[in-house]
Amino acid sequence: MDAPVAIIGGGISGLSTAYYLAQADIPSTLLEARPRLGGVIQSEHVEGCVIEGGPDSFLSIKPAAMELIRELGLAGEVIGSNDHLRVTYVWKKGRLLPLPDGLQLMVPTKLLPLLATRLLSWPTKVRMGLELFHPPGRHPEDQSVADFVTAHYGAEAVDYLAEPLLSGIYGGSPSALSISSVLPRFVELEARYGSLTKGVLAELKANKAQAKRLPLFRTLKGGLGQLVSALTARLAGQTKVLHGRAQAVERTAHGFRIRLEDGSIDCAQLVLACEAHNAALLAGRLDGRLAELLGSIPYSSSMTVALGFPDAAFPRPLEGFGFLVPKRERRRLVACTWVGTKFSHRVPGGTTLLRCFLGGMDDGGILSESDEAIVAAVVNELHEIVGFRAMPAFSRIFRWPRSMAQYTVGHPARWAEIEARAAVIPGFQLAGNAYTGIGIPDCVRMGKRAAETISKALCTA
Ligand SMILES: Cc1cc2nc3c(=O)[nH]c(=O)nc-3n(C[C@H](O)[C@H](O)[C@H](O)COP(=O)(O)OP(=O)(O)OC[C@H]3O[C@@H](n4cnc5c(N)ncnc54)[C@H](O)[C@@H]3O)c2cc1C
Repeated sequence: MDAPVAIIGGGISGLSTAYYLAQADIPSTLLEARPRLGGVIQSEHVEGCVIEGGPDSFLSIKPAAMELIRELGLAGEVIGSNDHLRVTYVWKKGRLLPLPDGLQLMVPTKLLPLLATRLLSWPTKVRMGLELFHPPGRHPEDQSVADFVTAHYGAEAVDYLAEPLLSGIYGGSPSALSISSVLPRFVELEARYGSLTKGVLAELKANKAQAKRLPLFRTLKGGLGQLVSALTARLAGQTKVLHGRAQAVERTAHGFRIRLEDGSIDCAQLVLACEAHNAALLAGRLDGRLAELLGSIPYSSSMTVALGFPDAAFPRPLEGFGFLVPKRERRRLVACTWVGTKFSHRVPGGTTLLRCFLGGMDDGGILSESDEAIVAAVVNELHEIVGFRAMPAFSRIFRWPRSMAQYTVGHPARWAEIEARAAVIPGFQLAGNAYTGIGIPDCVRMGKRAAETISKALCTA
């Protein structure tokens, strides 16, 4: 036996698993196909800027990432989003229009900003007001985000609120995404209050003190790469890190054998912490149906493009956090963030850094375009949308093929079957962004849970 535990995938899910195992004095082998650890977390420092190639922050309300950061001694490095400056614009018919103040995703909580916004038509505003009378109820079947939001606020709220807001998170379409998996809180609010507006207002009242204290997003001053470095440092001595791709996995009398290009690893406990489509390729010899289910989870491809300009390139300072482009108006850009406004410590004085997000289910082809073509197309769009003419002083492109899992309609039932089948393979665990939450805190939580399950199994063995 090479190691009691092997983990396949060195993104945040696999790293968290290895870390919590190491904390419990359980040695493991972590196998990562790329030459670096972190998966889609990748921070670079360019011209004094902190550039995030993948995720740039995590939601404050989900505790697992912050707990891990505290344990790693990085609490002093944590910064919050500058929420007092938060305005998000939406590109509509040739204009950048601010999202109305008080919006919680697509749920309005303030009347006057809703009445005043030019982003929505009067029929939609009236409909959003009448939503207060939506009767409580629970849908027996899962449904799409688009159907759910349309039933509450109408189709325009899908096109100009839900679609652009969710595209920046999932890179997917509201007509495919599952409401129960993506916005379970709203399903609960509908069941209890009928009206989402009523429900969100009640929640806000109940959580007033807490809501004021926490920034919406948190991150690390030097980039999320700091989290990867700190985790890697803590693994030394307990975790053997190998770089190579697992080719296949099979059962043995004592656990599992992982086939590599050159050799194999035997282990008693196995955690597949890679993307579900890669897990599907490995799980076939363990359980064909499990592999089929894992392979049926769609993934979208995406890309971030960081562009640095001198401040003087802009006729006036950029206000707010950035903008979203709804699918109806979209060419390439899905979203763009003014990095220096959203977070302090990321951009030196005199520089403006724009972080552009491209891709989504429908745009996988753009990954194969040349860097020059991508920068030219993105800058061209920015010129039109933001209204300036300069070319960037520097640029960085990060491509993420099939990295964002899509929780499509029916995902809760699919996950229940995956979980049940995985549970009957002794010593087998899954972790990753394809199952019970796509964000960094969800991945940390899943990695921790896998480590705890293994720890219990080894104690009772
Ligand atoms: C562009 C982008 C922006 C995002 N923004 C945010 C954000 O701001 N906030 C947030 O909370 N979340 C964000 N997310 C989501 C979040 O970052 C990811 O869901 C999370 O980091 C995924 O971690 P993971 O370890 O599950 O998977 P990954 O990071 O994808 O890691 C999986 C690893 O497994 C390895 N692997 C696969 N197959 C094999 C094999 N056969 N053998 C060995 N290794 C293998 C891969 O090389 C990879 O490194 C973003 C995601 C992307 C792509």
